[in-house]
Amino acid sequence: MWNNGDYLNFKLTSVSGRYVTNEHIYEFLNTLDDSFHLNVLGLSVKKRPIYGITVGHGPNRILMWSQMHGNESTTTKAVLDLLNFLKQGSSSVEEILGKVTLMIIPILNPDGAFNYTRVNAKKVDLNRDAQKRTQPESKILRKTFDEFAPDYCFNLHDQRTIFNVGNLKNPATVSFLAPAFDEQRNNSESRARAMLIIAAMNKELQGYIPGQVGRFDDSFNSNCVGDTFQMEKVPTILFEAGHYQEDYQREKTRELIVYALQRAILTIANEEIENYALDQYFKMPENNKRYVDILVENAHVLDNSLRKNDCISILYKEVLDKDKIKFVPTIAEKGFQPGYYFGHKTLNCLNEVDVNWLRSQKII
Ligand SMILES: [Zn+2]
Repeated sequence: MWNNGDYLNFKLTSVSGRYVTNEHIYEFLNTLDDSFHLNVLGLSVKKRPIYGITVGHGPNRILMWSQMHGNESTTTKAVLDLLNFLKQGSSSVEEILGKVTLMIIPILNPDGAFNYTRVNAKKVDLNRDAQKRTQPESKILRKTFDEFAPDYCFNLHDQRTIFNVGNLKNPATVSFLAPAFDEQRNNSESRARAMLIIAAMNKELQGYIPGQVGRFDDSFNSNCVGDTFQMEKVPTILFEAGHYQEDYQREKTRELIVYALQRAILTIANEEIENYALDQYFKMPENNKRYVDILVENAHVLDNSLRKNDCISILYKEVLDKDKIKFVPTIAEKGFQPGYYFGHKTLNCLNEVDVNWLRSQKII
């Protein structure tokens, strides 16, 4: 079945949490049989292999890459689940694989993944290197794009916990964007196709997370990979895996990304893109940055430099510690009035338990 409910049957449980590197995925990739073509597309700065998997034999060619930013692993987990789903096979999987050919790069930035950094080993943000292509990882993605000649591209990322949807107190658990191809943010046939596929995925996800899907900022930057591929008239979609309530390991978001990918592939394979309308895309609320990890209310009780009712916001710093990511609370902003920010968790300094916790974390 392509339609859900059976996610736990194909979730790749051997890979979980936030720290995902080549070492974590290699074993699974080697279990793929001959119907999956596993290749080393090239080597990173530190000579780590960049894997590519091709599967399917249909005319609709989809290129997707994850973990271009090394500390954004949620969509990598999702593409592994997708591969595991395809690996299990069924008549409907066979049918779809006769209509699409997928090229999946699970970790484009293996050095950044190893170090748990956004940038590569030369401290370059690969998503600002699309034009100059100074880095081996950027060259490899471009070469794959040229040789595979995709009809669609999926650019897979994570977004921070700070994003909410519109002005709602809903975290932006998943966000999408059909990147612009010029400063004026004009539309084109290829960009519109990306928008319609997003409309299809949004409709699917609203069934699981109503009001928690947003649209990402579409300011144009030709150094970004998505904008560049869109300029070349290949419909390109930015996926941003974000925060789901209490899910800092992003295991729930991972599942939702799988459903989005399945819906996108089905929509393309079955030529259902025209069933959607552009206004479904434009009606999706844009993201704002109104969330903090912890909102501390009545902070003036502890800090007499603050005004009455002033708050403190705390964001977690993600620190790699022996193969695991630790979430270290750090003060982001001090001394603002309540009302604007939402907290994934809210503490109140009139409450002794909350004060004791803040002291125990050496925050105050
Ligand atoms: Zn990213």
